[in-house]
Amino acid sequence: MAVIRTVLGDIPAAEAGIALTHEHIRYAYQGCEFDHRNVWDLDTVAEEVGRAMRMMRTEYGIRTIVDLTPPDIGRHPELLAETSRRSGVHVVAATGFYAEGMGIGFYWRRKSVDYIAETLVRDLTEGMVYDNRLTPYRAGIIKTATGGMGPHPTPIGVNGRRIGPAEDRVIRAAARAQRQTGCAIGTHTQPVDYKVANPGIEMLDILEEEGADPGKVMMGHVFIFPEFEQLDALCRRGAVLQVDHVGIPWMHDSAEELDEQLAILVCRLVDRGYIDRIVFSYDRFFSHGRGPITAEEPDQENTRVPLGWLFDSFVPRLAKKGFGKAELDTVLIDNPRRILAF
Ligand SMILES: [Zn+2]
Repeated sequence: MAVIRTVLGDIPAAEAGIALTHEHIRYAYQGCEFDHRNVWDLDTVAEEVGRAMRMMRTEYGIRTIVDLTPPDIGRHPELLAETSRRSGVHVVAATGFYAEGMGIGFYWRRKSVDYIAETLVRDLTEGMVYDNRLTPYRAGIIKTATGGMGPHPTPIGVNGRRIGPAEDRVIRAAARAQRQTGCAIGTHTQPVDYKVANPGIEMLDILEEEGADPGKVMMGHVFIFPEFEQLDALCRRGAVLQVDHVGIPWMHDSAEELDEQLAILVCRLVDRGYIDRIVFSYDRFFSHGRGPITAEEPDQENTRVPLGWLFDSFVPRLAKKGFGKAELDTVLIDNPRRILAF
């Protein structure tokens, strides 16, 4: 029977319930671990984040959160396990890597595709390593990422794609690890790149070259600056589109403006028959490993989106456009369950 692999063990897929497919229990760039202004206490953070997650479960019925934080932006296996224990929310952890501009440490840039693939598989089957120590907590999804930090499109890299050489190796390794285990892949693409290319298709090209199943690939950040035909092209290839930044006005003037755009695009996709290709999430930072807020380190909306915004604001907005309870259940429950199970 297909299961979903959470940090606290495998659960029957039917138990996943309402699932958010792309969140960050702790988000932290490489290097912050030796910043004097970024010393933190596991118990305090676990209590704070656990309380927020418990509220999401009891008030809004959220049963599963996919923590799509790869190790190079602060994945902390013990914190994930502890917040799951304290909240009663199932947490699916990620193996994999972030984009080259912000992640993939030098050590890993020198590794072969096969070496990386083996590491991903061991994270998924044996347990994740933290601070040179094997933990008992296994990952349940693979993260891949492409693109720069904006505001300009990412320069063209290997094979004519907006993908760096280390990203290319990670994507190939992810496909091989997926083929071996059957687990899902969650991705980060750079929204600005949709103005000049379809970075989702560029990533899918590599994944499929290596034998990955596009139906198990959730493409992230595709709704921020897309042409509708780009979304349609991804659906026709069989990929899953992740509606993220609900309530978080990334590269837009207000949450209302972006939410309205998301809602219109979702309804158009449903009209084309793609209801089974859509999942929802915030991309919220429940805790953020960072120093003081400065011009170089500005505050990010990802830390502030209200926990219930999806249900209190976005779902009513969708309902006004005819997106009903049955569609909502498909997107929040049926699709994540099918994609995450292996
Ligand atoms: Zn994210």
